[in-house]
Amino acid sequence: MSERPLPLSALEHGSPFAARHIGPDATDRAKMLAQVGFGSLDELTSAAVPASIAGSGPLRLPQARSEAAVLAELRALADRNQVLTSMIGLGYYGTFTPPVILRNVMENPAWYTAYTPYQPEISQGRLEALLNFQTVVSELTGLPTAGASLLDEGTAAAEAMALSRRVGKVKQGVFLVDADTLPQTVAVLRTRAEPTGVEVVVADLTEGIPREAAERGIFGVLLQYPGTGGAVRDPRPVIERAHELGAVVTVAADLLALTLLASPGELGADIAVGTSQRFGVPMGFGGPHAGYMAVREAYARSLPGRLVGVSRDADGKRAYRLALQTREQHIRREKATSNICTAQVLLAVMAGMYAVYHGPQGLADIARRTHRYAALLAAGLRAGGVEVVHGAFFDTVTARVPGRAEQIVAAAREAGVNLRQDGSDLVGIACDETTTRAELAAVWAAFGVDGAHTDIDALDAATPDALPGALLRTDEYLSHPVFHQHRSETAMLRYLRRLADRDYALDRGMIPLGSCTMKLNATVEMEPVTWPQFAALHPFAPIEQAEGYRTLIRELEDGLAEITGYDKVSLQSNAGSQGELAGLLAVRAYHRANGDPQRTVCLIPSSAHGTNAASAVMAGMKVVVVATGENGDVNVEDLRAKIERYRDELAVLMVTYPSTHGVFEEGIQEICAAVHDAGGQVYVDGANLNALVGLARPGRFGADVSHLNLHKTFCIPHGGGGPGVGPVAVREHLAPYLPGHPLQPTAGPVDGPVGPVSAAPWGSAGILPISWAYLRLMGPEGLREATQTAVLGANYIAKRLEPHYPVLYTGPGGLVAHECIIDVRPLTKATGVSIDDVAKRLIDYGFHAPTMSFPVAGTLMIEPTESENLAELDRFCDAMIAIRAEIDRVGAGEWPKDDNPLAGAPHTAVQLTEEWTHPYSRQDAVFPGDTGREDKYWPPVRRIDGAFGDRNLVCSCPPVDSYED
Ligand SMILES: *Cc1c(COP(=O)(O)O)cnc(C)c1O
Repeated sequence: MSERPLPLSALEHGSPFAARHIGPDATDRAKMLAQVGFGSLDELTSAAVPASIAGSGPLRLPQARSEAAVLAELRALADRNQVLTSMIGLGYYGTFTPPVILRNVMENPAWYTAYTPYQPEISQGRLEALLNFQTVVSELTGLPTAGASLLDEGTAAAEAMALSRRVGKVKQGVFLVDADTLPQTVAVLRTRAEPTGVEVVVADLTEGIPREAAERGIFGVLLQYPGTGGAVRDPRPVIERAHELGAVVTVAADLLALTLLASPGELGADIAVGTSQRFGVPMGFGGPHAGYMAVREAYARSLPGRLVGVSRDADGKRAYRLALQTREQHIRREKATSNICTAQVLLAVMAGMYAVYHGPQGLADIARRTHRYAALLAAGLRAGGVEVVHGAFFDTVTARVPGRAEQIVAAAREAGVNLRQDGSDLVGIACDETTTRAELAAVWAAFGVDGAHTDIDALDAATPDALPGALLRTDEYLSHPVFHQHRSETAMLRYLRRLADRDYALDRGMIPLGSCTMKLNATVEMEPVTWPQFAALHPFAPIEQAEGYRTLIRELEDGLAEITGYDKVSLQSNAGSQGELAGLLAVRAYHRANGDPQRTVCLIPSSAHGTNAASAVMAGMKVVVVATGENGDVNVEDLRAKIERYRDELAVLMVTYPSTHGVFEEGIQEICAAVHDAGGQVYVDGANLNALVGLARPGRFGADVSHLNLHKTFCIPHGGGGPGVGPVAVREHLAPYLPGHPLQPTAGPVDGPVGPVSAAPWGSAGILPISWAYLRLMGPEGLREATQTAVLGANYIAKRLEPHYPVLYTGPGGLVAHECIIDVRPLTKATGVSIDDVAKRLIDYGFHAPTMSFPVAGTLMIEPTESENLAELDRFCDAMIAIRAEIDRVGAGEWPKDDNPLAGAPHTAVQLTEEWTHPYSRQDAVFPGDTGREDKYWPPVRRIDGAFGDRNLVCSCPPVDSYED
């Protein structure tokens, strides 16, 4: 009677996830294809992608699975991680993420899907949150200017080393590091020092600066405060002596300890660095967490990374925006203060909110409790006859147990606690916010301390604090109202909501940023990130406790290798910029191993992303710029000439593919061959991989190494400017030169010549489940279809906008790749309407602007991604076309050049309540075109004056009286 039912195997998969990840459905796609003039996705991409690089065959990846099935797989992986109590310390601590922050920031797409706040008018919420973070760091460290996050503590120390050399009086000499510094920090410093000709000297500075080092000259000194072994030493004698020698002094400080201890600034330090992990950010097997840096006033303008500052809008009202952007690698390229682009914004927001939630008193209480546990732990050990090495400490106790360390650490592990073993004689135990009485008892038992000595309340009554009196903090901090007003959860919840509401993120609409691939960050991919089995692992926990992670990491590495056509992948780098550095260090080490140390020239096309040149300098290379031709492609003639000219010195060509101009260059294979012919290597910047996945593989069309951006192509959310993961992928011959890690030999080549580029062995491991899940959910066909749809979307937009704005560059068949650049310069010339005006006017239409003036000044680069459906693409095109009509009215003299909807954009609700003197209506101002009225996004401020803020640099929460406008 009925039709044959579908076989169970077909039903079991549920609806394929690809159909949810990819915005346009079959009907949409048919319409879009018709507009672009093709019959199918395959027809389109075989016309767009040069035949010479295409046809890599189907990806050998597991078939797509449903959301439910992938979650179940992730659960099984999570269950293979063992979460013990971590008392390892070493810069990573247990912390309690207040649930109101966990759910409303870390798990809230309004925060995690935001873009870097380059358009400040629609980013006031996260800019304020970052200003809070900067205020926390600046006040706790006692140094006036703090940045909006660095990648981790190790790289922050490396940035401090570079800064010291840049700004210090001593230009030669060594970088002197105290022996009690975190071992992973020392390792990262060494990796970063060597290519730039800096020598890192590690010495015990407890007795002062060794004469031998002083005689060689010292440009910088780094001290850990408190030390890795827990000791709190007075750094003043070393700081004073270092200053006499002309050195710049950096103190790597623990923010929680600083709530009780005198600040580095007060003690005379010039720079403070560290991590804000223990301010409510889960350990995540190493990351992501926000590293920090604060500096004395004189160095503010040399600070690496992003800095949020206070300025004013067109009404003179206070408004926030990124300050001093001209220091950044986007503008300064090889002369930039560092190569950092993506940082750790989401995690900095969390850490700042942790301080808002607890307030100064609450933070100090957490620190005091942590300290008391450590003090009692030490007292119990001593009572039981165990030698405690240091008399003054904050949270970490080092016990000397000759020959017994291994046995004690094993006994503690049996009882569910990981301790740190340091050689055969020393055991380190770190307390934190989450430490309990039961854990102290377990540790004492592991040491074999008799229970008679360890009555906690008796110990508590008898044990004084172990903080040195001369270093107790006496000054006030975090007195700003923001750290006092949100103590109830109701107030906190509303504060988070209020800030989120000021911002435009992917949960509101499209963010068509070229080169940034703002695609769907699916909820199912995000879910596992906060599961304790992924979130609560310490990066240096015994590796057998991380079986789930190891499997996930291996499978992700293999998947990325398959997709890119390379042989080996390292997931260590915390951002694309760091992947660039790792890739270039591999090239450098390869040439050296082949007896070619003179190969140091890095050829970079003029259109390249600014990080490329900045990374090349950090890798000890000399940047030589290759010209771009009329059509936007690499000028092959110039390239050949430069290859010839630098034949013996050529190290590598660094080229983005598809190009930063959004086209598939046809000459790529020829270019690769020419470089190889001259003995050079080819680095393909893989930030644009969203145009290649399933269609072509850089590792097969001639490149030797690439970095990828998992926070672009592989769905890790942008977080408002981080976190990110920037894996580096290489061909076999470069594999021995991938980054290693001294504390985790399985994280890279064993005894390879290149050290770590991140503090943690697998960098930001905690967010790798996102990309793993994406690959599993999409499967080989889904991934290919996503790429094809991204190319279709870009071409659809190009076709629709072409009659209104010239599309700057196209490739084969007049097609673009996954993004397109539209040229506003002729209109600017004719009418005076600037690229800024267009970007800000898009806000009135309810959009985030595309990438502005990169890679070509005066243009907009649009990348729709595969995730936006046709309705949203059309809404965007309609807005752009309507804006074009407005520009024409300005051009025709209908509106004055300085008073029109474009010049006045964006418009706020407040403006409507004021006297209206403009020659266009209120209606035209705020409800242009067909923008939905009920759901309108209202910018909280008018256009912001960036230059004013750069002249009057204010980078922490302004005093309360300045709020009285
Ligand atoms: C984003 C990007 C980078 C830098 O990556 P980050 O993760 O921001 O450090 C490098 N090159 C290109 C072409 C990019 O688009």
